[in-house]
Amino acid sequence: MSGEVAGRRWLRPELQNMASYGSAATSPGSYLGPTYKLSSNESPYPPSQAVVEAVAGAARVSNRYPDMFGDDLAGLLAQVHGLDRDRVAVAGGSLVLLQQAIQAVASPGDEVLFAWRSYEAYPIIVQVARCQGVTVPLSEHRVDIDQLAEHVTPATRIVIVCSPNNPTSTDISSKGLEAFLEALPTTCLVILDEAYREFSTGESVPDGLGLQERFDNLLVLRTFSKAHNLAGARIGWCAGDPQIVRALRAVALPFTLSRLASAAAAAAIAEGPSSVSSRVASIITERERLVARLQETGLEVPTSETNFVWLPLGTRSDSFAAHCAELGVSVRCFSGEGVRVSVGTPSADDLVIEAGERFASQR
Ligand SMILES: *Cc1c(COP(=O)(O)O)cnc(C)c1O
Repeated sequence: MSGEVAGRRWLRPELQNMASYGSAATSPGSYLGPTYKLSSNESPYPPSQAVVEAVAGAARVSNRYPDMFGDDLAGLLAQVHGLDRDRVAVAGGSLVLLQQAIQAVASPGDEVLFAWRSYEAYPIIVQVARCQGVTVPLSEHRVDIDQLAEHVTPATRIVIVCSPNNPTSTDISSKGLEAFLEALPTTCLVILDEAYREFSTGESVPDGLGLQERFDNLLVLRTFSKAHNLAGARIGWCAGDPQIVRALRAVALPFTLSRLASAAAAAAIAEGPSSVSSRVASIITERERLVARLQETGLEVPTSETNFVWLPLGTRSDSFAAHCAELGVSVRCFSGEGVRVSVGTPSADDLVIEAGERFASQR
């Protein structure tokens, strides 16, 4: 114990008591039947055989360093999305790009503004960068872009907007975002985190990739972790002004995007957009079934634009999560706020529905 305390003295003071990022899944505990992990918004399906083979092929030359900054993959993404090559950067996860952007743009003490509750990684990355996180509450489970605008001060260097928002599953409107970008000082960078963009079916969903060509202070983050079934491979990318992309590269460590990850992404791209969209369509169909069935049990379920649903259960969150655990399903419980449940296979989702029914009948 004294060792632990002594060790901590070496840490930067603000890191000593910092919350660490954890997937913090509820555990199905002593449950003996099949278990399902619906706590991390992963795809329930493995990547295709072609992707697996491409990774195996890359593994055979893994005695060689990869492309230093993943330029080949960035070029491929630019081509597929009709973007200029110098507007795209890649990294081992979109979180890496978020960290690079904060490092490149914000100095210690600068304000980074974001809505809350949102993605748990934001306050941690902001704090590690020695910046000042400033948060604005959600309104009706939604990022309130007008409120964000009101909290921009001369000290604000970065605004992070997560749309659709994790964990509340709602998105912001394109009009709202455009008005926000138009009114914002151009010295302030907006990072639009579109990790779940592929799952949005709303009519007013912002077109981040189009908007970053109009606003040179907009950086759009995308990932292969969710819609491309590649959370374990670690690949994210971003699009923004060439100056920002150059700045990300300036702070990036060389060779951190592995050859295996690049190969997985390139193979996923080579399968064409229809394979992503059919996969996403089946998740959306399943999502709508899950939402409807949970609503039938009397639960409030906000419209989801993602591959998960949000149950704003407040003080009853732990109880719902316990019902899921009893059926072998781990979910993400934010005690006192709500429960986030990833869309899984139909049989996993049936168990969530059953948990909802049991939960409802108990009240
Ligand atoms: C899952 C997720 C990501 C993905 O991060 P990667 O590092 O690309 O796996 C980014 N942002 C949000 C809000 C997420 O939920």
